[in-house]
Amino acid sequence: MANIKNISILGATGTIGVNTLDVIARHPNKFKVFALTANTNIDKLYEQCIAYKPHYAVMVDENSAEQLQQQLSKINSDTIVLSGADNLDFIASHAETDYVMAAIVGAAGLLPNLAAAKAGKRVMLANKESLVMSGKLFMDAIHEHKAELLPIDSEHNAILQCMPDANNKVNIEKILLTASGGPFRTWEANQLSSVTPDQAVAHPNWEMGKKISVDSATMMNKGLEVIEACWLFDVDVDMIQVVIHPQSTIHSMVSYNDGSVLAQLGNPDMRTPIAYALGWPERIVSGVNQLDIFDVARLDFEQPDFTHYPCLRLAYEAHTQGGNATIALNAANEIAVEAFLREQILFTDIPKLIEDVLKDASSGTPEILEDILIQDKLSREHSNLWLAKNTKNNKRQFIS
Ligand code: NDP
Ligand code: MG
Repeated sequence: MANIKNISILGATGTIGVNTLDVIARHPNKFKVFALTANTNIDKLYEQCIAYKPHYAVMVDENSAEQLQQQLSKINSDTIVLSGADNLDFIASHAETDYVMAAIVGAAGLLPNLAAAKAGKRVMLANKESLVMSGKLFMDAIHEHKAELLPIDSEHNAILQCMPDANNKVNIEKILLTASGGPFRTWEANQLSSVTPDQAVAHPNWEMGKKISVDSATMMNKGLEVIEACWLFDVDVDMIQVVIHPQSTIHSMVSYNDGSVLAQLGNPDMRTPIAYALGWPERIVSGVNQLDIFDVARLDFEQPDFTHYPCLRLAYEAHTQGGNATIALNAANEIAVEAFLREQILFTDIPKLIEDVLKDASSGTPEILEDILIQDKLSREHSNLWLAKNTKNNKRQFIS
C-alpha cells in the first residue's frame, strides 16, 4: 500500500472537484483523499466527508466551518475541520499531501496554488485565473521547487498529450486551441444584450461552474486559455491559433514542421484530463465512455471573429500589454461576470467594463506577489467604480 498517493482537492464541491472524486473512487488502490476544501457549500462537503473520510476538511467561511464541524461531530467523524483561507495553503503544502487538485474558481486559487508549487507537489491545475495573474511567478516556483505541473483544462491537457517530447518544441509550428464558441455562436450581434444568466450558463457541450460557463459564452475563457498556454508551454502568443470547433470533440491540436497535426479527441468529460493527470505517466480508467466516431460523424472548424467575441480581443491585447494588464483583465472579468449573474449588468456590458479597467492598468509585469495583489485590488476597485457609475439601485441604467 506504500504507493497510494494522498490527494488534496482545493475546490472539492465544484464540478472539477466532484469529477476528481469520481475518478479517485475508481482507484482505491492508487489514491486516498487526504483533504477536501470548499468555501460555503456545507451540505456537499458534509456528504463528501462521509463518503471519502478525508483527514482534513477546510471551509474558507468560518461560520460554514463551524456548522460542518457540528454536523460531523454528531456522527463521530474523524475528519478535522479547519477554517480560513490560510488553511488552504496549509493543506496544499502539507507534508502528507502528494497531489493537489487546484480547482478553486478565480483569484482565490492563487495563494494555495503557489503554496502547492513551492512545496514541490504534483499540481493538477484546473484554476486558470491564477496562471493568468501570476504566470511568471507561478512557473518559476514550479521549476525552482521541482513541482510537477499537469494541466487539467481540457485544451492544455490535450496539447500536452499531443507533445510526445514536451521539452523539445523546435519542430512545433502551431498550437491549435479549440473552442466551442459557446451558446451564442450563431446569434446576431443585436440579440446579445438580451442574453439572460440562465442562457449563458447553459453550455452546449460541457457541464461546468457558473463563472467558467459565462466565460465560455463571452469567449473570455478562450482568452484566458491563450494566456495560460503561453505560460504552460513557454511559447509566444503568435504560436497559438484559436479554432472554433462547435462539436467539442477535438480538445486541441499541435501542428509540426513535417506537416503532421496531432489531435486529442474524446467525449467532452473532464474525467479524461483528470485521470490523465492523476495517472501520469500512465493512463488509468476514468469512467468516460469511449468516443463513438460514427456518432460524431463530422468535425467543423471556423475562424473566431473578434467583433462577435470582444473579450477574446481584450485578452490578446492584455497579454501583449504585460502582466499588470492580465491581472486587470482577470479581476475586471470576475467582477463583471458576478454582476451579470446578479442581473446588475447586461451580457454586452461585460467587455465594456473590462475595457475601461484595462485602460488604467500600467504596462510591465510585476515581479513579486505583493505587487500582483496590489494590481488585483486596484483593478477590482476600478471595476466596482464602473459598476457604481453605470448602475443604479443595483440595476443597469439603460441610458449609456
Ligand atoms: P465551480 O464554481 O463549480 O466550483 C468552484 C469551487 O471553488 C467550489 O468548491 C467552491 O466552493 C470553491 N470556491 C469558490 N470561491 C472560493 C473562495 N473564495 N475560496 C475558496 N474556495 C472557493 O467551478 P469549476 O469546478 O467549474 O471550476 C473550477 C476551476 O477550474 C475554475 O478556475 C475553472 O476556470 C477551471 N476549469 C473548469 C473546467 C470545468 O469543466 N468545470 C474546465 C477547465 C478549467 P463552494 O462550493 O463552497 O462555493
Ligand atoms: Mg478549457
